[in-house]
Formats: sequence, structure tokens, C-alpha cells
Amino acid sequence: MTSFDRRSRSPKNQNLAVRSPEFAYQPDRHQRNGFSLFCERIPLSNLAKRHGTPLYVYSASMILGRYDAFDAAFRNVPHTVCYSVKANSNLTIVKLLAKRGCGFDVVSAGELARVLKADRKAAEKIVFSGVGKTREEIIAALKAGILIFNIESEAELHVLAECAAKLRKTARIALRVNPDVAADTHPYISTGLHRHKFGVPIRDARALYATAAREKYLKVAGVSVHIGSQITDVSPFGEAISRVADFVRELRADGHCIDYVDAGGGLGISYQQASTDTFPEYLATYAKALTKPLRDLNVHLLLEPGRSIVGPAGVLLTRVVYQKTNGAKRFLITDAAMNDLIRPALYAAFHEIVPVAYQPSTEQAVTQDHSQKDNVIVDVVGPICETGDFFARDRALPPVREGDLLAILDAGAYGMVLASNYNTRPRPAEILVDGTSAKIIRRRESINDLLRLETR
Ligand code: PLP
Repeated sequence: MTSFDRRSRSPKNQNLAVRSPEFAYQPDRHQRNGFSLFCERIPLSNLAKRHGTPLYVYSASMILGRYDAFDAAFRNVPHTVCYSVKANSNLTIVKLLAKRGCGFDVVSAGELARVLKADRKAAEKIVFSGVGKTREEIIAALKAGILIFNIESEAELHVLAECAAKLRKTARIALRVNPDVAADTHPYISTGLHRHKFGVPIRDARALYATAAREKYLKVAGVSVHIGSQITDVSPFGEAISRVADFVRELRADGHCIDYVDAGGGLGISYQQASTDTFPEYLATYAKALTKPLRDLNVHLLLEPGRSIVGPAGVLLTRVVYQKTNGAKRFLITDAAMNDLIRPALYAAFHEIVPVAYQPSTEQAVTQDHSQKDNVIVDVVGPICETGDFFARDRALPPVREGDLLAILDAGAYGMVLASNYNTRPRPAEILVDGTSAKIIRRRESINDLLRLETR
């Protein structure tokens, strides 16, 4: 699908889809140069004008399209895609996915409440992960009647057994095993090695399954694994699942009934450039890596993708407030800051940044041809008094002026959910675009909202 109306005047390079057809430059009569970045059929400049900045904007059709692609990639095996709510927990997005038949991976009573608020009936497709579930959280999940608890320690197993017995409710459990598999990702989001706090080493898990099986109100039902996030090479997933598959055989030999394997989430996205593979092609290699080791086991596969569903489906819009130079260094100071999108500060994460208005040199920015002579090397930074408050360092961008709009791409996952009120900055509004409609799915916080919970 081309992003341009063929009848219209269009830039020389027709391939100006920034990441996808859903975020592409299209003719816009309100722009100086005639083009601007759209989300689906709405110019982002209109949304910024109407709702202010910083502003998160998501594409509904992209979220659903990516969920559908995920679901389709596993069509040959019994499976449930349990969207990992932590990636983007907005109620409307949860509801959108629930309506499509999606299940959910939650890690707190808060996320559980969000899913149930979006869809009461979703409980039967909820997996509850997390290394430190409290009694209260466990009780809430038992009362809701969720599908399965992913248990991460012996201590947690005992608490679940105690709570389930008190409520006389049987809890299905999987132990999250730690497969000791290294994944090539940022150390803060790598979770599958013994030195990490997550899961139970496979060698200790067998005894724990035996303990669980003796509990009247626990039903051993599965094995779960999650080796980290933003992993773009599928081989560590395959390696982890192979270890899980061997373990399932051992557990079955011990007499346990293992119906589920939960492969966790973690599939990465391409932040730096549009991948040459389509998403369905990429998913096909991922699905093959996961399903091959499980081939003869006849298990129901649970999947917990977060970032790969919503990451590319969102942008953060921000306005350039000031430009300044410090010696040879040039800065664009934006009205968004690390409190709105912390990934660059937290993980030195890369996000592509593009101007919303099309200029001749935008083409080079979008196609990453930084040799364009107009391009300027800048740091894109927020106004907070922290050196870590940046979105890009030494980045070649087309010249922009104070007041211009920038779009920080691939901000749909771990963006708004990690936003804070640092510096008493109200968090951005969130907009969901669906074709020509744009809905406010979270209003912008006011300063009064921030003060409301405090006493004087
Ligand atoms: N499942 C578990 C247990 C996780 O810890 C995470 C993220 O850290 C996810 C799923 C989602 O991962 P991602 O968003 O990388 O797919």
C-alpha cells in the first residue's frame, strides 16, 4: 500500500512510509511544503494543534494488524496470544485487543483490574507473571478465576497454596523456569540467566513441581519461560524452548500433567531502520523456533508479546521549544522529556526522530541518508535538569525551527507506561487513531491532578 494519493503532487521519493503505511508522509494542504506525517488518515500536526504536546498517538489498525499477524503465525498449533499489558496498558488498547479475542499477561493487581475492566470475560485468558506477587494480588487473581499463575519461587508457591486453600479455589500453576540462556539485549532487560532474579533454575524446579503436586488446591498445568525483551535473533528463544521441552518430558515421566508451555514475550522490533522482512516473515521464523522443539508434545502454547504488538504502533509528538548551541554542539530542546519517554535515559535506547512537516531534506532523514548536506548534527533533549534527559545524541536531522513538531517513532511500547511526573510535569495525553477518527484515550494530566493526592 502506498501512502500517497497517486493523483496528488507527491515528493520525488514515493517511499516515505516512515515505519509502516500507518505512519507515512501524505499530502497536507495546511503544511508549508504540502506534506506531513500522518497516522492512518489524520495529519499528526492536526492532532498536536488540537490536543497539545507532548502527545502519544497510536494506530488502532496497526495494533490489530500486528496482533492478527502474531495469531496467524501460530495457527498450526493450539495457542493463545496473551498480550503483555505492561508494554502499554491503556484501557482502550486492552479493550481493542480483548475484542479481537486476545488473552493477557499481567504482572500486578492493577494490570489485572485493567483487563477485567476492559472485559470481564477475559479472566479465563489471563496469565499472571511476576517475581513478587503479594497475597492481596494473588487473592484478587484467584477470585477472578484466571487461567494460570506463573510461579517464580518456592516461597510464592506456598503463599499461593495457602491463599487457594483459604478460598477453596484451585489454582492452575506453571513454574517459570530459568533456562540459563543468554540473549543479546540490554542487560537491564535480559532475564534468562541464573544470575537474574527471575524464575527457578531448571535443576531445582523438578522438586518444586513435586511439592506443588501435593497441594490440594494447586493444579500443576504448565511450564513457563521468559528470557528477556527486545531480542531480535530468534535462536535464544529456540534454545530456551528446547530446554523447556526436555523438562516437560521429565515432568510427564514424573507423572505430572503438563498441558501448557508459556514461551513468554521478548520478540524485538527494529528501532533503527525499517526491517527488510515483513512482520509476518519475521514472525514465521520466530514461530518455527518455538514450535519445532515442542512438535511431539501436544501442549497448548501461551505467548506473551508486548513490544512487538504495540511498539511500532505509537509515536510521541513533541514541539521544539528552543534551539541552542554550546560551542560546537547544537541542541534542540523539546517540550517532551525523559519523564514522558524514559527509554533513551534508561537503556540508551535508540528512537528514530523525524520532523512532522515534510521538507525536501526530510526524505533523507526518513531514508536514513545522513549524507544530505542540509542535515544538521544535533542532540535532541528535554528540559529536565539531568544529563540523561535526551532522546538522541549527535543525530543528523533536517533543519528544524523553534515551534516545529517532531515525531519520536516506535514509542508505543514502554513509553507512556513508564512515564512519570518527575519535575511535577503532567503526563501526556494519549490518542488512538482509527482511519479518520481520533479518540482521546487518556486525557492530559493537569497540575491539579498531580497535587490532588497530597496533603498540605
Ligand atoms: N512476559 C514477561 C514475563 C515479561 O517480563 C515481559 C517483559 O519484560 C513480557 C512478557 C513482554 O515482553 P516484550 O514486551 O518484550 O514482548
